[in-house]
Amino acid sequence: MSTVIPIRFTQATLYAVHGPAGTALVDTGPAGKEAAVVRALRRAGIEEVSLIAVTHCHPDHIGGASALSRLLRAPVAVGRAERDWAGRGDSRFYEPLRPFGALLDRAMTRDYPPVVPDLLLDDGAVLDEFGIGLDCVHVPGHTPGSTAFVHRESGAAFVGDLLAGGMLGARPRPPFLAQERERIAPSVRKVLQTGATQWYFGHGRAAGALDVLRAWGPV
Ligand SMILES: [Zn+2]
Repeated sequence: MSTVIPIRFTQATLYAVHGPAGTALVDTGPAGKEAAVVRALRRAGIEEVSLIAVTHCHPDHIGGASALSRLLRAPVAVGRAERDWAGRGDSRFYEPLRPFGALLDRAMTRDYPPVVPDLLLDDGAVLDEFGIGLDCVHVPGHTPGSTAFVHRESGAAFVGDLLAGGMLGARPRPPFLAQERERIAPSVRKVLQTGATQWYFGHGRAAGALDVLRAWGPV
């Protein structure tokens, strides 16, 4: 039996997917929060992490990867299209989609400690060798190399910033920023087609697949 443990920071939420044979960390939070991540893991009874799976290379999602990889002795997996961003420790923000996005665009740094990925992920990759069965879905839209991770056993999908979770029960919305906004809807449909039942976002509340379907139309 696996459990999903959210670790929330002001900047973003990351998730530990913990099972009897391994634990994957989906995203890392920003740089500087690494010790807090390790403390949260220990509180949840997690001593070892077998994989750090990064949804996309924005500083609030990959910022802690370099230090956490060393602290936890865990490999880092990143979508192939964002390998260069990871290696340089930078990223780009694109078109603000909402007023808050314009604010973020001005306020947030694009830089983070560089990390050389141990694994580069392609669409359809299956991560089974880390004790947690994750399927990788390439979901461009928010960034070109964004990856969603679908945990087969529980039906959980970790979609990063492909969408933003609603607040107080509202339905998921577009992300605040996007590079290729026209690719968001096809990527959402791709994840719906995996049959994932529960969607977890980098920001905002988790949602059921039905809520996503209602907000984003038929598959
Ligand atoms: Zn992002």
